[in-house]
Amino acid sequence: MPELPDLVYIVDRLRPEILGRRVVRISVGNPTVLRVLVPGDFGDLLAGDAFTALERRGPFLRFALERHDLVMHLMLAGRIRVVAGTEKPLAARRFALDLDDGTRLEYGDEKNMGKVYLCEPGRHEAIPGYLTQGVDLTGPGFDRDTFLRLIAKERRQARVFLMDQTKLSAVGNAYADEILFAARIHPKSPCNRLSPQEKDAFYTAVREVLDWGIAEVSGAGRPTEDKVRDHMRVRNRAGSPCPVCGTTIRKAGVLGFDSFFCPACQKPKTEQFIDWSR
Ligand SMILES: [Zn+2]
Repeated sequence: MPELPDLVYIVDRLRPEILGRRVVRISVGNPTVLRVLVPGDFGDLLAGDAFTALERRGPFLRFALERHDLVMHLMLAGRIRVVAGTEKPLAARRFALDLDDGTRLEYGDEKNMGKVYLCEPGRHEAIPGYLTQGVDLTGPGFDRDTFLRLIAKERRQARVFLMDQTKLSAVGNAYADEILFAARIHPKSPCNRLSPQEKDAFYTAVREVLDWGIAEVSGAGRPTEDKVRDHMRVRNRAGSPCPVCGTTIRKAGVLGFDSFFCPACQKPKTEQFIDWSR
């Protein structure tokens, strides 16, 4: 559920709340999400440790402490917040860390699909997908040349390429649909059938849509555990009119994921079994 703009916002909000704070008490409810990669018990290991940094790496949040790294992948339903210790617990709370200023860091997850890894500082090799992330889409390494080099040899469908985190780190389902809509590219168009102009538009859309998403989520200023999707133009809008041309937004499966698009603005590059324009 939390995608790149959501995670950027979470980092901005949580960083000043937790840096320098020490963990004084740990409560673990359902431990399904926990992956303790060092010998010992989650609670015992974290007791007395203090936060020194918080950063995002693709879809991961890395909370650095003096003695450990706590790495979270929130997946579909993971939620995180810092609140006053007197607040009632977050729904589906899986664990909570009471901090030395009377606040509490909480992790909730209805689906138990998220993962929370506790490891030695900098030892991330046992965390699936952590070291194989591609270029950070918000970092200085992501520019037009880099994007064009990555897409140059691609034969996969545009949406599959866009969501490959080992290439572009990291676009989720909602922003993948919004980026392709902004670029006017059909989600199933093979990358090697895109014209140079379309690849250019694709790059521009990645940048602009993520910047827009970050501005919308940050501007909404909602609690960090909330899902901010009101600004979506095509995502989950099947049956609604396209905001650009009025054609009905459609939904299609792309490699097992639901994809939303406008069949008029995003014309397919190949013969499709289904005529999306009808
Ligand atoms: Zn349209």
